Amino acid sequence: MQISHKITQKLINSKNVLITAHKNPDGDALGSMIALGLSLKALNIKITMYNESPIPAKYGFLPCIDSIKQHFCEKENYDTAVILDCSDLNRIGKAAQKIDKISSTINIDHHLLNTEFGDFKIINSKESATAEIIYHVIKNMGVCFNKDIATSIYTGILTDTGSFRFSNTGISAFEICGEMMGFGAEPSKIAENIYGNYSLNRIKLIMKALESIEILNNGSLSIITLTREILIKTGARDEDIPGLINYALEINGVKVAVLIKQHMKDIVKNRGIDKFHVSLRSDGSVDVSSIASLYHGGGHYRAAGFDINAKLCDLRADLINKLGSY
Ligand code: AMP
Ligand code: MN
Ligand code: MN
Repeated sequence: MQISHKITQKLINSKNVLITAHKNPDGDALGSMIALGLSLKALNIKITMYNESPIPAKYGFLPCIDSIKQHFCEKENYDTAVILDCSDLNRIGKAAQKIDKISSTINIDHHLLNTEFGDFKIINSKESATAEIIYHVIKNMGVCFNKDIATSIYTGILTDTGSFRFSNTGISAFEICGEMMGFGAEPSKIAENIYGNYSLNRIKLIMKALESIEILNNGSLSIITLTREILIKTGARDEDIPGLINYALEINGVKVAVLIKQHMKDIVKNRGIDKFHVSLRSDGSVDVSSIASLYHGGGHYRAAGFDINAKLCDLRADLINKLGSY
């Protein structure tokens, strides 16, 4: 893909860059942040990597992961902010408005529905991962790849393609990952860290998640519900949840899978209303990003999500109603 020369020059000429991505970061958010961070550092540019959420333990192997800050320093005089893997600026979390005030903001993303925020943008929903776009940005900046950058890019592509299984897996995903291997990325080690290192609590959570599966709409809709009670009982954390929804989608005949997760905190008191994160996945016959956008969320054709304050029974009924026609 073509990267605008203007944006590359903007990055190269920056002096103090903030690099951030969506909260509850995945392998693409983290891999993209680190790959870009290391590349700008190689150009002697001052960088700070910021993410609101704690870093999932399975990504502990990524280079420089410990230098990602969870605290946004307002005193720092950033001239550029790069926002990665966010369809909407608010996906960053609490610091969104502060980051918006930085003099130049660059939005780099691959979501289908992007609000096109920022002073500069590189948005391409054809790329499997933001890490693919970052690969091109690094090439355009003329920075040489090394093992650390290669490992980060590889991780972003591996995780966002569901280990090269999802329909977004194009030739470029393989080509770039092959090239990253040439620079030292080790596929088996990376995969072992990400997929072979689960907590026992996650396994307990899987048991409860499977127990909760409901099959509706003549077998085309499946719902997993993770209540706060289940999360407390199993001792599972947010980082134990990614991937669980695939059990619901992998069932023969299921077109849309839903995972409803009750938040541990942030209870809106009284009225029985709670905060939920809802994940949606499709087998390819339904655009779940359009469903998520009905609830002010977003995502991709086959994988989307949203956050909502609601009563669990109302949310369930509303989702079943909206998904009933598939
Ligand atoms: P998840 O189900 O949380 O794994 O998210 C699946 C996809 O939906 C990801 O590409 C996210 O970027 C997107 N997504 C999840 N939650 C939200 C949200 N609250 N707003 C916008 N997009 C979201
Ligand atoms: Mn992401
Ligand atoms: Mn992504």
